[in-house]
Amino acid sequence: MKPYIGITCGHDWDKNMIYINENYCRAVEAAGGSPVLIPPLDDEVLIDRMFDIADGILIAGGPDVDPVFFGEEPRPQNGKISPIRDKTELRLAYKAVSENKPIFGICRGMQVLNIACGGSIYQDIFSQIKNVDVLKHTQNAPDWYGTHTVKINKNSRLFKILGVHELRVNSFHHQAVKTLAKGFAANAYSSDGIIEGIEKTGDGFAVGVQWHPEEMWEKEPRFLNLFEALVKATLGKIKEK
Ligand code: MN
Repeated sequence: MKPYIGITCGHDWDKNMIYINENYCRAVEAAGGSPVLIPPLDDEVLIDRMFDIADGILIAGGPDVDPVFFGEEPRPQNGKISPIRDKTELRLAYKAVSENKPIFGICRGMQVLNIACGGSIYQDIFSQIKNVDVLKHTQNAPDWYGTHTVKINKNSRLFKILGVHELRVNSFHHQAVKTLAKGFAANAYSSDGIIEGIEKTGDGFAVGVQWHPEEMWEKEPRFLNLFEALVKATLGKIKEK
């Protein structure tokens, strides 16, 4: 039984394109799931239909979220936004957490998960964080290559998934989680104090990482554990029914 993992897609309204990096699908396949692509949708009824079809949700990486969703006006560094993608993903994430459907958020996806549940993000870590030397989180290196270290909280679900308390990860972000959503805990940090992972405390599988494991697992199989954990949690929920 290969559960349906609904993967959200990117939206380039400039080019009239809906897109997804193939590696998200390949990682879900390798982890034993059936990837189902969820396009950006404006109609809430359709978003909810896609939510119902999916046994588990994977919120993919991408550009920036409209800061209106965490109560801020846009700073100049805030990048390209898609209102339809925001709407789709925020609704899927909120529903997944409230209905205990397993959800995994990658990069922007982790930020969406946090915002959907009431948290906020830095619109731009490089200009907004002033009291510490912020690391290079926008790497100039191959996608699969880990350029900075993260430390993982030993009491976390993430530690159980990855089995190590420190590892090198890739980094392609200028935003990061600022205030955590209620019911969530940070489970990983880089040395500059940036939150690199979050998870829902207590029951239910809602995990996010700031890096891109879908680019890394072929060279470092440990990162496939994240996708396997999502599929396993999804199978667990199906059995409950
Ligand atoms: Mn980073």
